[in-house]
Amino acid sequence: PGVTRHRGGDRVAPSGGGHCGVCDNCQTGLAVRCTDSVPMVSEGYAELCLAPERSVMRIPDGVGFAEASIVRCAIGTPLRGIYLEGKEPKSHDNILILGAGGGLGIHALQLAALTGGRVIASTTTESKVPILRQYGADDVVCTPDGRFHEQVMDLTDGHGADYVIDTVGGSTFNAGGFRALAYYGRYVFVGQINNEYARFPVPWLFWREAVLTGCTGGMYADTLRSLRLMEAGRIEAVISERFPIEETPKMHRLLQDRQIVGRSVISFE
Ligand SMILES: [Zn+2]
Repeated sequence: PGVTRHRGGDRVAPSGGGHCGVCDNCQTGLAVRCTDSVPMVSEGYAELCLAPERSVMRIPDGVGFAEASIVRCAIGTPLRGIYLEGKEPKSHDNILILGAGGGLGIHALQLAALTGGRVIASTTTESKVPILRQYGADDVVCTPDGRFHEQVMDLTDGHGADYVIDTVGGSTFNAGGFRALAYYGRYVFVGQINNEYARFPVPWLFWREAVLTGCTGGMYADTLRSLRLMEAGRIEAVISERFPIEETPKMHRLLQDRQIVGRSVISFE
């Protein structure tokens, strides 16, 4: 009842746009602080779910359900992190993607490559190296112990990364993410997959005059832009495995063992 924007049979996916569009914050470009937002599609695994119409978006023809289902989170979020407030990298920048083989990372990699900058991917899993090159990495640092900053410094002649897009969180920051950051660099947290706190001596920050920041999940505009990039064939939603609902425990096991490249989906088709 009350649905006006969509019709029965429309193909829709989460948009990240539960905001109202008309409150003062929405009208002034601060939709993140919408005072009348509705929750997005509820979390969990189900064949059917109830969603406010504001929180879903039409899927363009040519984009599949599985691909569209991951767009808001896996592509919209790193897109927002890389392009936030028009501070996108320039073609002379080094962009380091941490956790590059993961669901956010493999898409951050493709988005970073679109900027024309030099993209360095970091992973702890050797088998993911060729895949990271395939999706846009100019260089890959693979360090099972996670201590990658020396390699990044070597690759950049001691300059470091002008942008660090961290999809892992505190552990990668502490292991070398922050030390890999260039002077005046921009460190963007787009995810946190463990409980480790980020720690650093404060002078490291002021000596470098660096910026530590983060971004919330993809908002409506980020999801829309992501879908358009997909439609134009400029980026690809990477889904390496599809599971029936009965195999959910197996999927979680593979995720925990870092054996999934990009995202995996549960499919009811
Ligand atoms: Zn609003």
